[in-house]
Amino acid sequence: MSLGVAWAFVVVFGSVGCGGSDTPPALDTYFVAKPYANPACNGVDQRLAGQRQMRLYSKIGAGAVLPVTQGLASYYHRHSLSFFAAEQVQGTTMAYALDTDQTALSRALVAAFPGVDLNDDAALMADPVLYNQIVTFVANFMLKPMVDFANTHSDLGAGVTNLIVVGQLERPGGTPIGDPGTSLAGLAISPALFTEFARTMPEEAGIWQGVTLPANFTPMMVLGNNVLTRARAIDPELSDLVAAHEFGHTGALVHSMLERNLMFPGVSPSIDDCTDGLDDGQLTLMAASYGLGPSAALQLKRPAQIPAARALQPMSSLFAPARFRAMLGGDPQATRTFVELLFHGPGPAAAPTQ
Ligand SMILES: [Zn+2]
Repeated sequence: MSLGVAWAFVVVFGSVGCGGSDTPPALDTYFVAKPYANPACNGVDQRLAGQRQMRLYSKIGAGAVLPVTQGLASYYHRHSLSFFAAEQVQGTTMAYALDTDQTALSRALVAAFPGVDLNDDAALMADPVLYNQIVTFVANFMLKPMVDFANTHSDLGAGVTNLIVVGQLERPGGTPIGDPGTSLAGLAISPALFTEFARTMPEEAGIWQGVTLPANFTPMMVLGNNVLTRARAIDPELSDLVAAHEFGHTGALVHSMLERNLMFPGVSPSIDDCTDGLDDGQLTLMAASYGLGPSAALQLKRPAQIPAARALQPMSSLFAPARFRAMLGGDPQATRTFVELLFHGPGPAAAPTQ
């Protein structure tokens, strides 16, 4: 979980649980909210009162979706937000969210930018237009699974939220981007989030301008079943927090650096539990983004779409050519820095691991 969109690092301990089942759960069971053991998590206010329609997708069967959707419902019950799905879980060709195959990326870069020496820092720094094109190319390469999904599943615009469960977020065989002991658990993007990026982090938002998403794509959150399954084996509340965090991103929330805030970019078994919350400003923003809460009828819905192009920002100031080379060389830290830049702006070096 991290800046403005969504990711989560979850410490991985324990054994892997079972996967999905072939028989889909009944439609009305997906968003059953279950009370928490800690009564402090069961109080109810009206801050996000309303209903949100979700469309459900899974690469690995409907059974993998149920604990995610129930976790989402359980968490947001405290703010009177409920969810529903009008259709059963649909299959998807999206096998993972992030293409971290650096070998393939290097080959693609050479083909796309013939004659450009990616080892020549000085030349790259001296040509900000070219460097921005390269950074944008890399963003589109890595994000292609999410972009493809958005381009084919946005027929309802921002009226619903697409929730996708994949086996793992990163391409199998790619460069693992988490620190040892942490794993990427979720990613999320939405037009409302990009509006917030543009307001609060214009440089990072500039990269997204070059990503080939539809202008008013359907908000989407992608969860990695491998990490969530392990998190649930430690504490089901951790899995709920990841789902709630990613949904927060789709509702325009960026990262918080306060450890017990829901939008902190990581969860940890010894630190986080269901009492992790949202502050007043976050609840107000999310209510406005989704037209929820007591004053929903009075709110003008925020115009949520990818901001128009702005003055060129030098990407080399955000992600230096040397970091770039390290990433292409398979350095997981450099790759992670790039993904953090895309999704959350500069975040903490690592999520807490204990
Ligand atoms: Zn996040």
